[in-house]
Amino acid sequence: MAGKIKLLIVDDEERFLQTLTQRLSIRDFDVTPVNNGAKAVEAASRQTFDLALVDLKMPGMSGEEVLELLKKNDPYIEVVILTGHGSIDSAVECTKQGSYSYLQKPCDTDELLNVLKNAYQKRVQHKLQLSEEKIKGLLLGATGESPLGILRKLREMEEKNGREKSS
Ligand SMILES: [Mg+2]
Repeated sequence: MAGKIKLLIVDDEERFLQTLTQRLSIRDFDVTPVNNGAKAVEAASRQTFDLALVDLKMPGMSGEEVLELLKKNDPYIEVVILTGHGSIDSAVECTKQGSYSYLQKPCDTDELLNVLKNAYQKRVQHKLQLSEEKIKGLLLGATGESPLGILRKLREMEEKNGREKSS
């Protein structure tokens, strides 16, 4: 997949949002920062994101709701939940609801980059697995000729076999 990793960041703390956006933009992420869940869902309906970093506690739509809606919109998006102290249980619950992982705020940049990198790998694999299945299906369709074609092939094989035996 060419180009930058498209990352949606949702957090109601403006300063945190800005800092994170700066840190990740200089590391070649294509970052779209938004400060609430509704904006996140709207942005994801208009463009495809590879990954989303979603704050758990926000006024209005919660991180759990955003996770659910983002996944419904695009099952391949990998979501990493951001959580403060005291919300670890909810963050763990989110991983059962389909988020890739969670990180406790304030998060270490290296750790964050590592998690995002792995989440992106998972996304790519997930997409490739599906296309491999599609390719297999296409191949089956191409070689699974008409019954007559298969019979002809079997006959050719039999004939060849017979010739080899008699010679
Ligand atoms: Mg918050």
